[in-house]
Amino acid sequence: MKSDDHLVRTVMLSLKVNSEVYTRLKEVEEEYKQILEDAIDYGLRNNIKSFTRLKAGIYRQERARHPSLPSHYIYTACEDASARLKSFMRRKKEGKTYTDKPELRNVTVHLDDHLWRFSLGEVRIATRKGWVSLKPFFTKLFWKYYNKGWALASESSFKLCKGNVVKLYPVFKKPLPKPYDVKGFIPVDLNEDNVSLLLDGKPLLVETSVKKITLGYAYKRKRISEGRSTKDRDVKRALKSLKERFKKLDIRRKLAKLIVTEALREGKGIVLEDLPKNTPEKMVQDIKDKQLRDRIYKSAFASLKNAIVEKAKEFGVPVLLVNPAYTSSVCPIHECKIIYPPDGSSAPRVGMCEKGREEWHRDVVALYNLLKKAGYVSPMPLGSKESHDPLTVRLGEWLRAKSLHLTLNVNRMMGMTV
Ligand SMILES: [Zn+2]
Repeated sequence: MKSDDHLVRTVMLSLKVNSEVYTRLKEVEEEYKQILEDAIDYGLRNNIKSFTRLKAGIYRQERARHPSLPSHYIYTACEDASARLKSFMRRKKEGKTYTDKPELRNVTVHLDDHLWRFSLGEVRIATRKGWVSLKPFFTKLFWKYYNKGWALASESSFKLCKGNVVKLYPVFKKPLPKPYDVKGFIPVDLNEDNVSLLLDGKPLLVETSVKKITLGYAYKRKRISEGRSTKDRDVKRALKSLKERFKKLDIRRKLAKLIVTEALREGKGIVLEDLPKNTPEKMVQDIKDKQLRDRIYKSAFASLKNAIVEKAKEFGVPVLLVNPAYTSSVCPIHECKIIYPPDGSSAPRVGMCEKGREEWHRDVVALYNLLKKAGYVSPMPLGSKESHDPLTVRLGEWLRAKSLHLTLNVNRMMGMTV
């Protein structure tokens, strides 16, 4: 969930209830699903997606159909339907829908402040016959938000699972800090297998191996499902155990945190390329499979950019998005073309300036050009090794680190080539 002026985090509490409570929540769930379906059908028929208009259109009829259900479930179902319709219509425009209406596979019953009550000793949920009481069991994550200045939001939702288990999703909110005045910018350039940035003014490549990891998993998936149906239970289980999504999510969350931490330490903002919606030109052309290209683009560029932007918001670090045109093809000093050797040569990412004949690493060029686009000119590494052979930190070296510059300092002290 997103909101513009607040940070929002949803946690999950798994609560065991007796069969009477379960049955009463089941009744709510069934009626809620019917209302949700009606609201979606109504929205599609009349080309409506706003909450207010959906509610105006179906409230009277649903009230008559579900006389003993607390009326606020009609409101929350309309909100739910509105969000689903908006996302469905957006995807339809992009040609990404495969059905003629939104699928209702994952239904959680949405609650507003009239439909649930929370205290540390008891959670109550409104049903057809008054409130039911659930005994809460709290997770570590719940306490982390509860004790660290986050406020519990008035909305929540629940879902019913096997074995009389209710999954409750409380939402925490916190106002966003105001972005501070910056003393310059840290440029960050996203690539398929690394992220480059200027740390204390020095270029650094941080390995993410996103492309490598994606290709590796694609190969594994292919081997598991070759000649078998992906609906097969064993195949499903084997595919699930790959944890590709989790691994990439872990990389991007941690890297976003490390980059934002450095910006805070230097009192700077972050300047990033504003990426196009679809695969940018700078993505290598060697992946022919379109689905695979999209997958790499999403995890190496789009999702990582979003992760950095979100993390920066959380800490009040200003982010500047700039036009990505020519960021790695023009020399930041001489403003002429940099000629790169063709793909497949021994160092395709190191090019030479047409005018000054100095050598540049593609990902380092981008950094100085990003800074220029942000309106800052910094000392350029003219003729030094770091312009074409920057320090590199490997995935294993930073993934568990507390900070990027500490990792570098430790490595320097130990006399290692990072
Ligand atoms: Zn040059």
